[in-house]
Amino acid sequence: MHQALSTMPALTGSLDTDENALAWAAHDYGDTVHHLPTAVLRPANAADISTVIKHAGEHDLAVVPRGQGHSTGGQAQAPGGVVIDMTALSVIHEVESDHVVVDAGAKWSDVLRATLPHGLTPPVLTDYLELTVGGTLSVGGLGGASHHHGAQTDNVLSLDVVTPTGDVVTCSPSTNRSVFDAVRAGRGRNGVITRATLRLVRAPETVSWHKLHYNTIGQLIVDQRQLVTKGSFDYVEGQLKIREGEHVAELEAVTFTGTSSGSGDLSGMSFREAETQAVTYWDFVDRLAPGEPVLRDVGLWDSPHPWCNLLVPSAAAEALLHHADRELGADLYSDFGLVLAYPLRTDRITTPLIRLPDDEVVFLVAALRYAPAASPQIVTAMHEANGQLISKTLAAGGALYLDPL
Ligand SMILES: Cc1cc2nc3c(=O)[nH]c(=O)nc-3n(C[C@H](O)[C@H](O)[C@H](O)COP(=O)(O)OP(=O)(O)OC[C@H]3O[C@@H](n4cnc5c(N)ncnc54)[C@H](O)[C@@H]3O)c2cc1C
Repeated sequence: MHQALSTMPALTGSLDTDENALAWAAHDYGDTVHHLPTAVLRPANAADISTVIKHAGEHDLAVVPRGQGHSTGGQAQAPGGVVIDMTALSVIHEVESDHVVVDAGAKWSDVLRATLPHGLTPPVLTDYLELTVGGTLSVGGLGGASHHHGAQTDNVLSLDVVTPTGDVVTCSPSTNRSVFDAVRAGRGRNGVITRATLRLVRAPETVSWHKLHYNTIGQLIVDQRQLVTKGSFDYVEGQLKIREGEHVAELEAVTFTGTSSGSGDLSGMSFREAETQAVTYWDFVDRLAPGEPVLRDVGLWDSPHPWCNLLVPSAAAEALLHHADRELGADLYSDFGLVLAYPLRTDRITTPLIRLPDDEVVFLVAALRYAPAASPQIVTAMHEANGQLISKTLAAGGALYLDPL
């Protein structure tokens, strides 16, 4: 046992050092980086986190918070240090007409289950809801509504934080601003978020969801750019993939029924065909949930995911997506992989620690690769392919999103 643990002051929660706890904390969704910590803290409150941070600081021991562990590059791991299991703090405290107060270990799906009965929703949601509030606020949290509302970190009213020196503070745009700016997108290294007050807006009951298919990547991104510049839809995303042997270039444009500020106008666009469906807001925002058991069944949920997330200036997006599209045909994604590609307006993203290319509209490009279990050569090839995407992006003035620390 590390000497620091034997002298740890009393805690209300637990400090686990058993093999299972350590192995759990050395694993993430990426499944390519595995660092064993010395202990896992399951805190009962912010005071436990403060105690451990102060004590670990005296012994030069790293302390890293972990949410759902859906990072793909070891970001929530603490080699030889202490991992804090933030899911131990996951209470939804109160829902008011314009905000909700939640513990940072709560999942966004639980936040929505609490707010939707009041007809309310956070304005920006990630595509997958089984991520913790603290986990996405520590990276930014981008989604199809970000071209209107920025990142999730731009929609936070206040945070309770344990600082790297163990102080427990509340911060907001008007109180302890430096802590507020350091911890949002601070990737767990500038303080531990224990509680968040999140902005809420009116939620629609249903949405109109268009999937538009394009003949060319060039047409796809011209239309995407135009939609976010005009603000005509509430949600805009898109993806490249191969399905049944065909290359697919798809734009997703969604109107929130009854709460929309956009026109929802599809005229003048260059898509080849459109598929439109009306679904409940919940079914739309939780749309990735049915895919999880499918991926588990084929063994691709608990296998390596060498993912790569990039923020690309508009001028470089088409060339990069052509490169990614060629890779899609070269077996670097498996049957379930895809390239997510959608535009963001940089004037809507104000979180200081989110690194953005210098452009009015930038594209989030995410190479979402699935490697079969026990396939180190495929994982290496996927990492090499990511390296090429990263070099091209950086050379074009782009930036990395969610990169390993
Ligand atoms: C299937 C899937 C879909 C995704 N979709 C999107 C998407 O649409 N948009 C998007 O932006 N991202 C998306 N992501 C990425 C995801 O937002 C990040 O990886 C996020 O950090 C994961 O949250 P988590 O709770 O699993 O955090 P973890 O992986 O456990 O931790 C991630 C980082 O957050 C830090 N951290 C965790 N909790 C706290 C806390 N309480 N205080 C301070 N720091 C903390 C950790 O130290 C670490 O650096 C997706 C990931 C997956 C696997």
